[in-house]
Amino acid sequence: MSDLIRWEEARDRVLAGVAPLPARSVPVLGAHGRYLAESVVAPESMPPFDNSGMDGFGVLADEVREASVERPTMLAVVGNLPAGESRSAPVAPGRAVRVMTGAPIPEGADAVVPVEYTNFWDEATRRARIPDSPEEAAALRVFRPVPEGANIRRTGESVRAGDRFLEPGHKIRGTEVALLISVGVARVNVHSLPRIGVLSTGDELVAAGETPGPGQIRDSNRAALLLRLKELGFEAVDLGLVHDDPKELESRIRDAIPKVDFLITSGGVSVGDRDFTREVLGRMGNVEAYRVAVKPGKPQVFGHIGTTPVFGLPGNPVSSLVVCDHFVVPALLKMAGAAEVLPARFEAELTMKTRHKPGRTEFLRVRLVTEAGRWLARGTGPRGSGILSSMTKANGYAIIPAEAETLEPGARVLCQWMH
Ligand code: AMP
Ligand code: MG
Repeated sequence: MSDLIRWEEARDRVLAGVAPLPARSVPVLGAHGRYLAESVVAPESMPPFDNSGMDGFGVLADEVREASVERPTMLAVVGNLPAGESRSAPVAPGRAVRVMTGAPIPEGADAVVPVEYTNFWDEATRRARIPDSPEEAAALRVFRPVPEGANIRRTGESVRAGDRFLEPGHKIRGTEVALLISVGVARVNVHSLPRIGVLSTGDELVAAGETPGPGQIRDSNRAALLLRLKELGFEAVDLGLVHDDPKELESRIRDAIPKVDFLITSGGVSVGDRDFTREVLGRMGNVEAYRVAVKPGKPQVFGHIGTTPVFGLPGNPVSSLVVCDHFVVPALLKMAGAAEVLPARFEAELTMKTRHKPGRTEFLRVRLVTEAGRWLARGTGPRGSGILSSMTKANGYAIIPAEAETLEPGARVLCQWMH
């Protein structure tokens, strides 16, 4: 056991071996999916002006203080402000101005009475009534009081001009793009996303879509890894399949290195006769093979060829994905400039007895569900490192600590989502 390193240490080695990619200024729409390289200061406020949060009437709160159904407050409607317009007569004692949601608050008003509290509301159709005559349109009766400031959305209550409202390392999702647009930011500085090359190795493999001969299987890892990386928003480059031929492997890697920011290989990192990946990577760069106290995914290879980080994943289909998720993805997030590179974890109850021998941390694939407000982690079937079907049934990982003995149903373990 003494030659096994703790999984966190192995993960941290990979993290330490990569650096954030350079940043550049791009239009906000083009920043989608990338991570900010600097904080963003708002050029303008949002909302840009005090505006109404409801369809209703701008009034003086003091005047409707005693309004009731029995004794409505009578006001004269002296103007109408649809959203998008800004000019109307001011509100003064005895007067109100009709406002739509998003319309500027008329001068003089200090509250908005929702139309539902007035004679302009039609309960039968649950819509505002269209008055029949100018006289009717001018005669407002308010049935309920509103406090000062009611239904007014203040200038800058979301973001104020001059506020630093996004920090470096923040991911630009659609929501961030929307907020950037709304405060008038046209361009932002973001890190490039890593381009990751994926190469699979193995004499027994045929490309997906081909018919395997005796003793052969289809190369599924390459698709699994390329699509996993794509799902995470990275750029993944298919470098194809190489047989267990060290010369061929070396020339393919040499061709690939200048085209990628990170190279991933699958297979050939354990101690079999035809496990050449380790040897070839070792010859080409500053690369180390080590064994990690983790299940699945014990044999791993990491280092650099020139300045390009390279990671040799084990070939078993489950191992390759598990190692990618827990050891490679945090490093890719760091390269992308993400502030948070480690996943959020939460406690859930295992629903099944889980055999475990102390020694290695296990990333157990589980189905995470809530039942009566409790997080449960259900088993998804056999735990072998080649059993991909138990991966497709899973939506998360339960992390069984290295030192744990067999866990009974109800045991609480830390879990995280699977991408
Ligand atoms: P290796 O790490 O090369 O010793 O492979 C371990 C196991 O994973 C073997 O059973 C391989 O057949 C299988 N394997 C390796 N690479 C792939 C792949 N790209 N797709 C599917 N299975 C693979
Ligand atoms: Mg192999």
